[in-house]
Amino acid sequence: MSEEFFRGGGFGRIINAAGTMTGLGANRICKEAIAAAAAVSPYFVSIDQLQAKASKVIARATGAEAGCITACSAAGVTLSVAACITGDDPEKIERLPDCGGEQNKVILQSGHSINYGANIEQAIRLAGGRVVAVGGATEANIYQLRARLREGAAAALYVVSHHCAQEGMIPLDEFAAECRAHNVPLIADMASEYNLRVAEDPGVDIAIYSAHKFIAGPTGGIVAARAGLARAVYLQNRGIGRQMKIGKEGICGVIAALESHLLRDSKEEQRQWRAVLSSWAKALGEVRGLQIETIPDWTGNPMERLQVTVIPGEAGLFAWELAARLRDGDPMIFAREQFLEHGRLIFDPCHLQDGEAEDVARRIIAVLDDARKNKNGCCLRWGDYKKAEAEAAMSWRGER
Ligand SMILES: *Cc1c(COP(=O)(O)O)cnc(C)c1O
Repeated sequence: MSEEFFRGGGFGRIINAAGTMTGLGANRICKEAIAAAAAVSPYFVSIDQLQAKASKVIARATGAEAGCITACSAAGVTLSVAACITGDDPEKIERLPDCGGEQNKVILQSGHSINYGANIEQAIRLAGGRVVAVGGATEANIYQLRARLREGAAAALYVVSHHCAQEGMIPLDEFAAECRAHNVPLIADMASEYNLRVAEDPGVDIAIYSAHKFIAGPTGGIVAARAGLARAVYLQNRGIGRQMKIGKEGICGVIAALESHLLRDSKEEQRQWRAVLSSWAKALGEVRGLQIETIPDWTGNPMERLQVTVIPGEAGLFAWELAARLRDGDPMIFAREQFLEHGRLIFDPCHLQDGEAEDVARRIIAVLDDARKNKNGCCLRWGDYKKAEAEAAMSWRGER
């Protein structure tokens, strides 16, 4: 499978208006990271040395004291929980996920019990952690957090994500202050965040970022932490971390991506994203059956997206039918499906290349025209769509 294979759309061409999605290969890896991963590939290196170099770059990028690179953010969560349970004790590290009577409670607001493709509570349990819930699905309060902290815990986990309940949660700075007051280390899952300075402000003990999301690196997780905790996370490679290790090519690729992220011209990047949004606004603003709106990012990342509300009676189809038809066409067009059940599709401008924004708008209009002309829409109920999606997700059988 050569570069030409993929450039020629070897498995079918994909236009990604969904954002960084693991199932679509996350992001385009930046050229600096590709070069660094290729450069190290033919050589032997000391992984300890590489990770010490990574620690310095992570410290510079995040303001944390130290850090290390993991296989991905999910691995970073598991290894951070492990670090908070075992510290740097090699015997305890080896014994996990058996905690041998060590404190293993991990405090988590119920509204942060998310699924990013897998369930975050499982990432905690993999390390031997036991989840202690704070509050309800859309409501958590400081007094509840305080009570759980007083009972003692190995760590608290705070998730910053559009997947989280969007209301009623305790703000990060207050959550962090409460953890600090009770001497419970705070892990922040910041996998999808652009701003890497959270370890510094508001001050969390371990912050975790995905290398393959905004940072445009190869698959990896960036753990930025207080020095002792970074060390305890790295030492998990002698235990459960072995099952989720990252190799030299990944480490070098992530270091290069991180260095280039620091030099990134974010103004120019944002200008390009806004240009995509205004081309969509122009093309879709007057389309019958659609209401469009530009919406800010849910967690404050410096970007906006296009929200398209489908009025079934006028559009001739349901939002989820539009999403499926965009995806099933050629090229395959992926939109964010987060609020699909509410009749909304969301289009992300970050990964579009020349001409692709126009392709997306044209196809939306064509799908609507077809649905109205052939009266083949408004026939799949939401529940049936959801069921079909769940079945499709389980349908992988390997090569036939
Ligand atoms: C994407 C994501 C993850 C998983 O990240 P990987 O690096 O792909 O393992 C975890 N938490 C949140 C909040 C995410 O957005």
